[in-house]
Amino acid sequence: MERHRIAAGSTVDLSSFDPADASGFTGDKNEAKKRLRKLNDRLEPLQELLYAEGKHKVLIVLQGTDTCGKDGTIRHVFEGVNPQGVKVASFKKPTPEELAHDYLWRVHTDTPGRGEITIFNRSHYEDVLVVRVHSLVDELTWSRRYDHINNFERMLVDEGTTILKFFLHISKDEQAERLRARLATPEKQWKFATGDLAERERWDDYQAAFEDMLEHTSTDWAPWYVVPSNRKWYRNLVVSEAVVAALEGLEMSFPPPEDGLRDITII
Ligand code: AMP
Ligand code: MG
Repeated sequence: MERHRIAAGSTVDLSSFDPADASGFTGDKNEAKKRLRKLNDRLEPLQELLYAEGKHKVLIVLQGTDTCGKDGTIRHVFEGVNPQGVKVASFKKPTPEELAHDYLWRVHTDTPGRGEITIFNRSHYEDVLVVRVHSLVDELTWSRRYDHINNFERMLVDEGTTILKFFLHISKDEQAERLRARLATPEKQWKFATGDLAERERWDDYQAAFEDMLEHTSTDWAPWYVVPSNRKWYRNLVVSEAVVAALEGLEMSFPPPEDGLRDITII
């Protein structure tokens, strides 16, 4: 799945990435679901080991346009993992208190501690995406944020955090399908926000903002993956493979037991 990783310093033209691509997996949808279950089974003990060892911190960032599947990714990739072991931080429109601070303030308090996995459902990247598209700050202000973000993430990595960032890439047609499904299905209507239509009208502006984000902030220490996400099963598989591989790469071990455990008898 490393094929979906954006090398640091790359130029990114999103129109050359096929959102329906599934070429990283040779099987069909059913085989992919089986493979995902196997990955879920591996992730569960890895999370326990991460917590037991209490050394590493893991931060997973999810970004993408409305309906790209951030919620579904969290649900499927972390299925079966101990709910105590994973924290999800969802970043919405900032509150007045958050707006009174710098844009990294609210994000920093939600970063993982030792032994924790935190998933950012949206993130500090909104401050170079929606904020840029809607001119909530001027260009000078958002354009210097790429450097801030790289330095901030570098600091987190230096202090023991593993960072994985996933851009869930869907096509404009796929978004139309998903919005229509939300409109037509009573159980999905709660998700339909008319405001999403105004965002959809700015599709091209968002794609340009995503491209700049990927170009400027995919680093050796905190890489972006562009995940083809029109097919949900493929999206889940790419994210799951990357997360499991990253955790396995930490080469963790259980801490040594207390001395003298052998001599203890429970009566
Ligand atoms: P949802 O993910 O559907 O719950 O929507 C959350 C909304 O909050 C999205 O429209 C985001 O663009 C918006 N949002 C998140 N972070 C920011 C930010 N820093 N500034 C402005 N809007 C934001
Ligand atoms: Mg929404």
